[in-house]
Amino acid sequence: MTNWQELEKKYYMRTFDRVPVTLVKGQGARVWDDNGREYLDFFAGLAVTSLGHCHPVVVKALTEQASTLIQTSNLYYTIPQLQLAKLLVENSCFESIFYANSGTEANEGAVKLARRYGALHRNGAYEVITTLNSFHGRTLAMTAATGQPKFQKPYLPMPAGFVNVENNSIEAIKKATTNKTCAVILEPVQAEGGVNVPADDYLKKARAWCDEQNLLLILDEVQTGIGRTGALFGYQLYGVEPDVITLAKGMGGGVPIGAFMANQKAAVFVPGDHGSTFGGNPLACAVGYAVVKYIIDNDIPGNARQMGQYLMVKLNGLKGKYPHITDVRGRGLLVAIEFSKEIGARMLTACLERGLLVNKLKPNALRLIPPLIIGKAEVDEAVSIIDAALAAVSCEA
Ligand SMILES: *Cc1c(COP(=O)(O)O)cnc(C)c1O
Repeated sequence: MTNWQELEKKYYMRTFDRVPVTLVKGQGARVWDDNGREYLDFFAGLAVTSLGHCHPVVVKALTEQASTLIQTSNLYYTIPQLQLAKLLVENSCFESIFYANSGTEANEGAVKLARRYGALHRNGAYEVITTLNSFHGRTLAMTAATGQPKFQKPYLPMPAGFVNVENNSIEAIKKATTNKTCAVILEPVQAEGGVNVPADDYLKKARAWCDEQNLLLILDEVQTGIGRTGALFGYQLYGVEPDVITLAKGMGGGVPIGAFMANQKAAVFVPGDHGSTFGGNPLACAVGYAVVKYIIDNDIPGNARQMGQYLMVKLNGLKGKYPHITDVRGRGLLVAIEFSKEIGARMLTACLERGLLVNKLKPNALRLIPPLIIGKAEVDEAVSIIDAALAAVSCEA
């Protein structure tokens, strides 16, 4: 049998620190490796396969569109992108959409939109305030937006126009605001940066400040959007309406698609201002439409909310047995479990050996981001594996 992991070492750039498993098949909340081993998937392709693997709705949309029309460019009208646009606009506080192919590209577009807004309505302001420990993607500009020096350092100098300030502090945003500022970008819950849930009134205060200063409030909902946090959009949890939102991960149920949406005030692009060859192609949009429609019609955000609460209650229930669980936090099915010791890597391995895929969020924390369609039985199974893994890892510690 081919040793795929050796092949990767030989032929793939040394970019990823991979979990030593080669996945070949998925169905629902399960995946299988090339040895036929089954795993319960609480990683979901990095919070992407929101309806689970190979959901019939995804497969149907993908295969039907694949045999009908795949790519046309945006120089022509196509139907799936407009069906998805109407669905997302009618179910949000925004009035229009632009499609990209990934999260980072959606964010790039949102920043370009904010710079146009600054040019037109704030005397040429171009600077964007973001937060420390945020994550906005891997292009050069989004590396500058991402408030994590470890991502920026290898690529200095960073593109100009981004200021990273303390998270969850409205005072920090106020202090960083100057006449050059055009927008503030926040994640409703910082996801990659640690599943950091802000104070309940943080987004409201940010909204008020942006209104007062004529800044755009942009929410990066690449991870939190499309049901993940227990609402269709994370902003709905906090009672605010942003001017711009960015989406990607869960939007296509596994097929690459991204987007940004804007309200009337922020939608300042005119023809020629922005573009994309692949963005909004019929294939991605047909799947995106099927996924988002299924999520809305079947109240999948409601399931994410209930299962997320159930998961967090059960994880909290392990605290008595394992006092080194220091925190369980999250919204919906974006959940972190944190430990007093740096046992994240060993916990990941111990879960893997017992048939559960999780994510090492930090040296001392795991992230659980299962498909949004999971039920109680899967949560029970995952928590009993985490329980056994904790028992094993605590013994060796
Ligand atoms: C994953 C992520 C991104 C980047 O998305 P890509 O599709 O990897 O480019 C941006 N913002 C947030 C909040 C994310 O979680």
